[in-house]
Amino acid sequence: MNVAACRGLTDVFFPPAAERPQARERREQIARTVCESCPVLVTCKDFARDHHEYGFWGGESEEQRHQAGFHLIAPIGIRARSN
Ligand code: SF4
Repeated sequence: MNVAACRGLTDVFFPPAAERPQARERREQIARTVCESCPVLVTCKDFARDHHEYGFWGGESEEQRHQAGFHLIAPIGIRARSN
């Protein structure tokens, strides 16, 4: 049984090409709200941190995982914002 609250919501959890910062903030806030009701949030967050995942997982954005010390291999969005 798939209990993930994000089932069918891929567009909310992964960015489209050339997403603008304001659109990213809005999309990630929606994703965060979905994650807050998810029964597998902790497992999901740990998996994403351990596997250097991209996108929004376990209530965290790529940037939040990066800032928590779980570095992405090629953090495109983070690099773009820090230039
Ligand atoms: S915690 Fe993970 S499985 Fe649950 S809604 Fe968020 S991204 Fe999906």
